[in-house]
Amino acid sequence: MNLELSEEQAAAKELARDFTAREISPHAVEWDRAESVDRGIVKKLGDVGFLGLTIPEQYGGSGGDHLAYCLVTEELGRGDSSVRGIVSVSLGLVAKSVAHWGDEAQKARWLPRLTSGEAVGCFGLTEPGTGSDAANLTTRAVRDGGDYVITGSKMFITNGTWADVVLLFARTGGEGHRGVSAFLVPADTPGLTRREIHGKLGLRGQATAELVLDEVRVPADAVLGPVGKGFSVAMSALAKGRMSVAAGCVGIAQACLDAAVAYAGQREQFGAPIAGRQLVQELLADIAVDVDAARLLTWRVADLIDRGLPFATESSVAKLYASEAAVRCANNALQVFGGYGYIDEYPAGKLLRDARVMTLYEGTSQIHKLLIGRALTGVSAF
Ligand code: FAD
Repeated sequence: MNLELSEEQAAAKELARDFTAREISPHAVEWDRAESVDRGIVKKLGDVGFLGLTIPEQYGGSGGDHLAYCLVTEELGRGDSSVRGIVSVSLGLVAKSVAHWGDEAQKARWLPRLTSGEAVGCFGLTEPGTGSDAANLTTRAVRDGGDYVITGSKMFITNGTWADVVLLFARTGGEGHRGVSAFLVPADTPGLTRREIHGKLGLRGQATAELVLDEVRVPADAVLGPVGKGFSVAMSALAKGRMSVAAGCVGIAQACLDAAVAYAGQREQFGAPIAGRQLVQELLADIAVDVDAARLLTWRVADLIDRGLPFATESSVAKLYASEAAVRCANNALQVFGGYGYIDEYPAGKLLRDARVMTLYEGTSQIHKLLIGRALTGVSAF
């Protein structure tokens, strides 16, 4: 693995850093308090090319490799995890799945809109009764002539109320993962209703929703990938998606380091800056080591993907480590800020709240330990 960035990768990082400083960081606290980011940010993300990374240019994408995608995701995550998550889902889970599994008509219909920010995508896998055990989902799609009729519900869907298209997973066959198919469902299809979930601990700027499908009728050409292969569509999206979550966690951890070092340098107690206290330096050193370790594990995944090598277990390792590290870093940063860390005029509290969900979604920490354990032993312990 070459740890030096190419000119293109360095330029992507620089562009994302400038964009975040200009368009995201100044608004992050206000969006968090209002429980909604400004929707105009989506078009701006599209205009600058961040919703088209790794997507071929013929479909409106901006090209680039997965390391560039990680670098941009990290910078967005440094500014606001809610914005980072919009990209990770609309591009990372939805557009990339369409690019990988879609036929020409599906790519032509959805990719230019998703990559430009004209449309937003959401990923509907989790249900009220099936979270970690996603293969046992119960939303059902029944064939009726040239259509499928879908009934069921989805829970905790990021971008849910904003989305123009839902990448939806429903059962078309028997039990288990072999009976699942993926569908591209336009969000305005009759029978699909959406309810925003309020009162989240973190990612408050993001529209997280419950979706209810009551006999939602879609044509058979809405199936993405082969019928009965929907679970493979979901798992291939999540394997790369976990790298994106890990990169967002690196961004959180880096924001913690920057804020804590700056504050420690200017806050005086006992007649001198607290930066000169060994126990404060220990907090800063612990954050710095976590930042480096999480970043290197994440870059390794990008490097493996870009070289066409297997990466699923490494993606679990990076996601598990980076998400737990982001929580630790935010907690340590909050400690450096003392009582000021506990109020939202200072950044540490929001970073901690935003970090916490990273250990829950796209596979909880326990599920990633089981995936890593299965890869090590060949034995499934789920
Ligand atoms: P459960 O699966 O019920 O788990 C509860 C606890 O049991 C956890 O600690 C878990 O680790 C543990 N556990 C479960 N099984 C085992 C086992 N076999 N061994 C040991 N421990 C186990 N989903 C989507 O489809 N699309 C989205 O866009 C999306 N966005 C989300 C955004 C937010 C803010 C949140 C909170 C969730 C989102 N999710 C989304 C759902 C998320 O992926 C699930 O919450 C997650 O998979 C866990 O499922 P669950 O909440 O049902 O918990």
